[in-house]
Amino acid sequence: MANQRDYYEVLGVGRTATGEELKKAYRKLAIQFHPDKNPGDKKAEENFKELSQAYETLSDPQKRQMYDQYGHAAAGAGPGGPGGFDFQGFGGGAGAGSINDIFGDIFGDLFGAQAGGRARGGRRRTSGRPGDDLRTSVDITFEEAAFGAEKVIIVPKTVRCDTCTGTGAKPGTQPENCAQCGGRGEVNFQQGFFAITRPCPRCNGAGQTIPNPCVNCGGSGSVKKRTQIAVKIPAGVDTGQRLKLTGEGEAGERGGPAGDLYVSINILPHDFFTRDEFDVICEVPVTFGHAALGAEIEVPTLEGKVKLKIPAGTQSHKILRLKGKGLARLGSYGRGDQLVRIIVEVPTNLTQDQRDLLKKFSESGADAAHPMHHSFFEKVKNLFG
Ligand SMILES: [Zn+2]
Ligand SMILES: [Zn+2]
Repeated sequence: MANQRDYYEVLGVGRTATGEELKKAYRKLAIQFHPDKNPGDKKAEENFKELSQAYETLSDPQKRQMYDQYGHAAAGAGPGGPGGFDFQGFGGGAGAGSINDIFGDIFGDLFGAQAGGRARGGRRRTSGRPGDDLRTSVDITFEEAAFGAEKVIIVPKTVRCDTCTGTGAKPGTQPENCAQCGGRGEVNFQQGFFAITRPCPRCNGAGQTIPNPCVNCGGSGSVKKRTQIAVKIPAGVDTGQRLKLTGEGEAGERGGPAGDLYVSINILPHDFFTRDEFDVICEVPVTFGHAALGAEIEVPTLEGKVKLKIPAGTQSHKILRLKGKGLARLGSYGRGDQLVRIIVEVPTNLTQDQRDLLKKFSESGADAAHPMHHSFFEKVKNLFG
């Protein structure tokens, strides 16, 4: 400490620098010279020590005043050294609070290391890391969507190891407190004047080590497994909707909560039915004769065939409603309807006899029997003459 540099010079600020300016300058240089960024570099270590000492003095208004008045003589040569006043607690004690705060800010993010004062209340092994969420999908039939169903799906996921009940230790043995950190999960090391705390490298912050790992899971406490999960499909669901199964995701680490499982619904195409919200839509082709004369036909519904009366003179694309034959109204009461869309089929592949009959019908003055046709061509005639 023979040729000690001026503290303001060390920080690269003027003598009138504000507290905020000091802090900013310190942060910038501390990151530059931090031993974690310059492993084995003695010069950087010296710079870092010098910088810390300068900031410790100048960031304290009382010490700064003394330093301004008496220079290094006032500050002495460092902790415990001879001098005008003592740097009490410098390097981790009560007096170093301001520096520890800054360390928490800077190095907490930068290096994953935290200064003593900060880390004590910080992350610990009280609860393990939660498991990840999982996503999957399930194919269901139209009927299952309509009435609800219970489906069993297979999901590959990590589950708690049954052999060791998740502890990772061979049955009959126990995890032991980590020899390096004594179960705290974190270790202090001395860096110049600072006690820096970081997660224990031996136990990765868990606080415990497993001398006899479980053979089934290799000590991790969880195993990959194709797991059967029963999924209750509520009546009325639609394609693209998602069910959340709380706690059915990946197992948490060492006692942490499991993630959730999200199941997307995919409804398979149906031979007869499509849907419009909770209404079932079904197109039914009827013969030209039935549509003209009226008839009773059978139509498929979700619950089998029902008889449906087609009134005489039913036009193509007319919709007949079967009340309450639709899908369950998800999140509400009752059911939608079934909408039967009549499609009149024009006959093809006629026999000679049939052609003769239709010709006769056509020439029988059928205009009155086709009012839409008649009125349309009346209008065309009026428009174009
Ligand atoms: Zn440890
Ligand atoms: Zn196990």
